[in-house]
Amino acid sequence: KIILGIESSCDETAVALVTDGRVILAQRIASQDEEHRPYGGVVPEIAARAHAERLAPMVEATLADAGLGLGDVDAIAATAGPGLIGGVMVGLVTAKALAMAADKPLLAINHLEGHALSPRLADAELAYPYLLLLVSGGHCQLLRVNGVGDYTRLATTIDDALGEAFDKTAKVLGLGYPGGPAVERLALEGNPRAVPLPRPLLGGTEPHFSFAGLKSAVLRAYETGQYSQADLAASFQQAALDCVVDRTKRAMAVAGDVTALVVAGGVAANKAVRAALEGLAAGAGLRFVAPPLQLCTDNAAMIAWAGVERFALGISDPLDFAARPRWPLDPDAAPARGAGV
Ligand code: ATP
Ligand code: MG
Ligand code: FE
Repeated sequence: KIILGIESSCDETAVALVTDGRVILAQRIASQDEEHRPYGGVVPEIAARAHAERLAPMVEATLADAGLGLGDVDAIAATAGPGLIGGVMVGLVTAKALAMAADKPLLAINHLEGHALSPRLADAELAYPYLLLLVSGGHCQLLRVNGVGDYTRLATTIDDALGEAFDKTAKVLGLGYPGGPAVERLALEGNPRAVPLPRPLLGGTEPHFSFAGLKSAVLRAYETGQYSQADLAASFQQAALDCVVDRTKRAMAVAGDVTALVVAGGVAANKAVRAALEGLAAGAGLRFVAPPLQLCTDNAAMIAWAGVERFALGISDPLDFAARPRWPLDPDAAPARGAGV
C-alpha cells in the first residue's frame, strides 16, 4: 500500500509518499522560516497563504519524484488539526480534492498522532505500548501509547511547551527564529553550571512540566549582564534537561509495563535531550527509541505513516471532516491546572 501524506499545520508545507513497508518513496518539505523571521515567530495569515501557494505544485512534484501518478496511491492522508486553522484547512481541502478526483479514501490525521507514531516508521521493532515524551513547539506531554488512536496522558505542561521555552530563550538571547537549533548550537560552547537557574516542579509527585519560570529566570540573568550568551544557553538547556529527565523518570514509575521509552516532536531533534533520555532508559533497562532527526520536526512522512497505520485498521474519514484547531490525543483526560492541549 502507498499513502500520500500532507502536512500544513504550522510553518512547514510538506508532502510525502510512504509505503506500509516503511519506505519513504519521496518527500518534500518547504520551510517558511524566511517569511516569518522578520516577525520573530509564525504569523498565521502569512503561513496560510504560503501553504496555499506551494502545496498543489509540491504534490505534483513529489509524485513525479517517485515516478507515480495519483492513481497509484491507495489513500490520501492530511493533518486535520491541531494547529493554525488557516494552514490546516489548506492541507485538508487539498487532500479532499485529491481524494475526490482520484476516488481514494481520505484519512484525517491528528498532527500529534503523526509525531507520536513517527518512531514506528523508522523502527519496525517498536511495539505498543510505549512511553512517549512528546516535545514540540506547542506540546509537552508524557503519554502511554497503547495503540493507534489510544493514548493515556500521564502528564502535560501547566504553562509553556518545551519547544516554546527554547524559542523564547532564543528570543531573549537575540538568536532569532526558529530558536531551538540555535540554542542547542550555542549551548555547546557554554558552561551548563555557570548560571543558577530554577528547575520547576523537580521532584513533584505527578510528572507534569512547567517552563515559564525557567524562561523568566533566563531573562533576569541575561539582564544582569554578568553572563555570556553561551553560558546562558548552556545553563538553560541543562536546567530544562534536568526537568525533562526527572519528570520522565516519574512517568516511568507510573506508566506500567511498556516496551520502550520514546521521544518525538521537534525538540526530539536536540542531541542533548536524546542523550539524557537514552541514559535514563539505559539505567532502567528499558529500550530507547528516537526517530531520525528529519522525522522529529514537522514533516509529511509522519502524517503519511499515521495514515498507513490507520488504513491498515480499515479506518477512513468522510469528505466533510472538519479541520480542528484543538484536538487532544486523549479527549477524556482532565487537563492539568492551567494547561492547554
Ligand atoms: P506542535 O507539533 O506542538 O503542533 P510544531 O508543529 O510547531 O508544534 P514541531 O515542528 O514539532 O512543532 O517542533 C518545533 C519546535 O521544536 C520548535 O519549538 C523548535 O524550536 C524546537 N526544536 C527544533 N529543533 C530543536 C533542537 N535541535 N533543540 C531544541 N529545540 C528544537
Ligand atoms: Mg517550523
Ligand atoms: Fe509538530
